[in-house]
Amino acid sequence: MFNIVIFGAPGSGKGTQSENLIANYGLFHISTGEVLRDHIARGTELGKVAESYISKGNLIPDDLMVSILADILDNTPEAKDGVIFDGFPRTINQAKALKAMLAERNAQVDAVVGLEVEEQELITRLLKRGEESGRSDDNMETIKQRLNVYHSQTQPLHDFYVEEGCYLGIKGMGTVESIFDDIKAAIKEKCGK
Ligand code: ATP
Ligand code: MG
Repeated sequence: MFNIVIFGAPGSGKGTQSENLIANYGLFHISTGEVLRDHIARGTELGKVAESYISKGNLIPDDLMVSILADILDNTPEAKDGVIFDGFPRTINQAKALKAMLAERNAQVDAVVGLEVEEQELITRLLKRGEESGRSDDNMETIKQRLNVYHSQTQPLHDFYVEEGCYLGIKGMGTVESIFDDIKAAIKEKCGK
């Protein structure tokens, strides 16, 4: 199993680069944001709960998010060779839970691809995506709260994964292709893949 966590602020390009990683390494993609948006679109009970947090720019509670993820890992045979975790973990508690979940499966997080993007660029990208895709959380007020939440709850994962020895910092500005070239080079150098 080769497991990658793609990490970065809202709008840092996690979804975009995940697509490149899937094509290149044949991994299974789990985007927690997409999983939640799918529940909202289908009007499930979970979707209703998720919407109340997402629309305010807040995180879904850890225990709920961790149980959703465990359920996907248990019920997706395609995930056994390796996964790209996109949008998860977002808190230290989630990172510890992921570590335990993978350890139970004799696996680990092999690489954390950290996309590093300047704040003004993030805001520009998210506002543009809001106009183009109509994603309801891509408006100025919610973006500000998502960035606050990122700095207070998610950014500490940077140090957590540096200590774990698997953090690959990648400058997430420039063309999609050049950023992906940097990601591939870093994975090859540090993980031999
Ligand atoms: P990007 O644009 O880089 O893909 P994003 O922050 O815009 O990132 P998603 O990852 O799609 O978007 O997440 C959207 C929302 O879903 C979050 O703001 C949060 O409310 C909720 N969410 C997604 N993943 C988690 C998680 N691991 N824990 C808690 N809430 C989550
Ligand atoms: Mg995304």
